[in-house]
Amino acid sequence: MMDFKRPIAIIGSGSIGAAWAIVFASAGFPVSLYDIDEQRRAVALADIERSLDDLASHGLLACEPEIVRPRITMMQDLGDALRSARHVQECAPEDLALKSRLFMQLSEHAEPDAVLASSTSFIPASEFARNAPARDRCLVLHPGNPPYLLRVAEIVPAPFTSEETISRTLALLEAVGIAPVRVHHEPRGFAFNRLQGALLREAYCLVRDGVVTPDEIDLLVRDGLGLRWSVTGPFETIDLNTRGGIEAHARRMGPHYLAMGQERGQNDPWSEEMIQSVAEARRNALPLGQWRERTVWRDRQLMELLRLRKQSAE
Ligand code: NAD
Repeated sequence: MMDFKRPIAIIGSGSIGAAWAIVFASAGFPVSLYDIDEQRRAVALADIERSLDDLASHGLLACEPEIVRPRITMMQDLGDALRSARHVQECAPEDLALKSRLFMQLSEHAEPDAVLASSTSFIPASEFARNAPARDRCLVLHPGNPPYLLRVAEIVPAPFTSEETISRTLALLEAVGIAPVRVHHEPRGFAFNRLQGALLREAYCLVRDGVVTPDEIDLLVRDGLGLRWSVTGPFETIDLNTRGGIEAHARRMGPHYLAMGQERGQNDPWSEEMIQSVAEARRNALPLGQWRERTVWRDRQLMELLRLRKQSAE
């Protein structure tokens, strides 16, 4: 049974720290927030209040903002913030030296059973927690921004992270309604930012080469690729785009994707084994006999989204 009495400590109350506070507090946990910057300490709660009101007015808060807000306390001192916390979520700037120092401090001052998680976007726990005495309790818990809207987060343990730390983090995510993605091998940028990076790198090249403007990139993604991706991920999108599914797509279009990659110095052909493994996952999720029905479902989802967009533009 999850203990909702012990607080969650959040270290760094900028964009991500404040957003995590909303996630944990709205699920029922007391939250102790801390920031080294006095000015930030003075304004973070006001930012949080505004987001809570917005969430409530969109019907996305389980209870009234007046119930959630008092669960969050801004602490003046790191030690106070860590007191009795079951989970510490570090949200300081993306800097290896700073995070390494912080995880040394957290090892020393946090409760001896506290999970010590970093929101880092790129730095693996193997690097920032390498020398931390409590490194078996350290891992990356990387959210999308903001986590109170993007309800998925990456769990990235280091080889030295204990299984108990991972299972307690999974249980916490379940308690707050965020879907976990367990990332293996600690690749730089994990999975979320590697996907984002693939698109951003190409977008910069297209702008550099005068192929399209920055505004046109945003238009193509907002009204094209991104609109579809908000209903189906890239694999399901392609699976539904091609009769015969993703395997047919890979055979027909694979050479074009390979050539585009090679133009950018990347040589990662889609091997038979890779195609089979992705196709098998898709066929388990959607037998080809249900393909047409699913494309109708996708179109209706997109119609819903477009209706909402139209309404909110009026
Ligand atoms: P931010 O600059 O908005 O906030 C960082 C906060 O940490 C600041 O308020 C700063 O005063 C505080 N801080 C600095 N040193 C500190 C210390 N020693 N102790 C306590 N507080 C300290 O940054 P952010 O966007 O919230 O990012 C925080 C972390 O989350 C980074 O590692 C970032 O990579 C990661 N992240 C960011 C996003 C995003 O889209 N912004 C998404 C996912 C993960």
